[in-house]
Amino acid sequence: MNKIRVRYAPSPTGYLHIGGARSALFNYLFAKHNHGDFILRIEDTDVARNIEGAIESQTNDLKWLGIIPDESMDNPNPQCGPYRQMEKLDIYQKFCDLLIEKGYAYECFCSSEDLAKSKEEQLSRGISSPRYDRRCLKLSKEEKEELKVKGIKPAIRLKMPHNEVLEFDDMVRGKMSFKSDDIGDFVIMKSNGIPTYNFAVVIDDYMMKISHVLRGEEHLSNTPKQLQIYKYLGIEPPIFGHLSIITNERGKKLSKRDHDIRQFIEEYRKAGYLKEAIFNFLFLLGFSPEGENEIYSKEEAIKIFDINHLSSAPSMFDNKKLNWMNSYYIKNMSSDDYLNFVKDYVLEEYRLISQEKLDYLLLLFKSEIKSANEVNKLLDELFHFHSLSEEQKEFLNLDSSKIVLNKFLEKIYNIEDFSKEKVNVIFKEIMAETSLKGKFVYMPIRLKLTGLEHGIEIYNILYALGKEEIYRRISSN
Ligand code: GLU
Repeated sequence: MNKIRVRYAPSPTGYLHIGGARSALFNYLFAKHNHGDFILRIEDTDVARNIEGAIESQTNDLKWLGIIPDESMDNPNPQCGPYRQMEKLDIYQKFCDLLIEKGYAYECFCSSEDLAKSKEEQLSRGISSPRYDRRCLKLSKEEKEELKVKGIKPAIRLKMPHNEVLEFDDMVRGKMSFKSDDIGDFVIMKSNGIPTYNFAVVIDDYMMKISHVLRGEEHLSNTPKQLQIYKYLGIEPPIFGHLSIITNERGKKLSKRDHDIRQFIEEYRKAGYLKEAIFNFLFLLGFSPEGENEIYSKEEAIKIFDINHLSSAPSMFDNKKLNWMNSYYIKNMSSDDYLNFVKDYVLEEYRLISQEKLDYLLLLFKSEIKSANEVNKLLDELFHFHSLSEEQKEFLNLDSSKIVLNKFLEKIYNIEDFSKEKVNVIFKEIMAETSLKGKFVYMPIRLKLTGLEHGIEIYNILYALGKEEIYRRISSN
């Protein structure tokens, strides 16, 4: 069997999306499981949609996830490159000329207005999926010359065969079959000399010796078009597989409008998700391993990856599961690794806190946070006073509250540092001296210190704020 060679072929139209990252990951796992090659190539022929910096940012995000290509623009194999489509326009042109020469493709001079008119006319005749009417196929050599002299540059269309069936065995969804008559003569080369996706992808996959194409379901209807090009060129197509769609929790295809779901890997990185958690989560987004285990390292994922276990049913993006997974990985970090990781996310204003105190607090939050940037919310709860409701103000105005607060100030006067034990002793004494209990003892102090009714244990608040600040907050009105 030939070496397995797969590819991830993003268009540089934006950041790395979770759907793209999942395609990249499955291709990578498939290659690594089979000791094959994983190739990164850039499909940038849709020039108007290309965004500056997108290649770099997508490449960085893949690298961050540990999805490292064996071949790419940065690490090319001279026999298979270039790895960026716009650098090989002359190669596409040669293949295009070959198809014209063999009579499998032809020049089309129609303007977009001509095409729109024809489409409308077909629709009015009740044809629900209008196709190109092949009017340029009938042009004589002289007519074509005349049009060219007028300065009209032709696009090139593939001449689809009549009454044929295009079939393939999809690795994920089994036998797929399409009628050639349902596919119109589509453009393979635009009039500006830039190939369309369906054409360029075939030439690239062929030249890069791609053995398997695993990509998103949205490309399913493109596959018969590509198969026809392979047929005309007389080359063996790769084996295809189309991954299921990713849905939101309501079962609808994930869209940019789903604001409650972060859609780009970059966003997760910035919010303080660990690459191991994202990797693990994406791995289970469409792959079902045997057994109940949900935690997989990269090495384990490579080991157990099986192309036959990819699900053809939609995969739901479960935000709660991702958060659970990230907190699982955070909890399992060593203290040092954890501190190194979260410190980068701590806002500037909290970096003024002494190193010892900050480390102590960050470690307290380790079991609570779902992502690193959440430490700021917890630090905020501690250090920023939150305004009180009328009800809370009334509670603080009770005689009992005033007594507790006075006693508390008196008692901490001689204390240097706030250990759990010392603070417990103070509260016990206050209870004994006032006969008050529970909420009536703890709540006035908590409210006066933070303005919040709940949060981390009081002795941690005391330690965090320090004596001076405690005095200031408790004595303030
Ligand atoms: N450039 C295409 C995309 O971003 C890749 C399609 C393919 O893998 O063939 O969707």
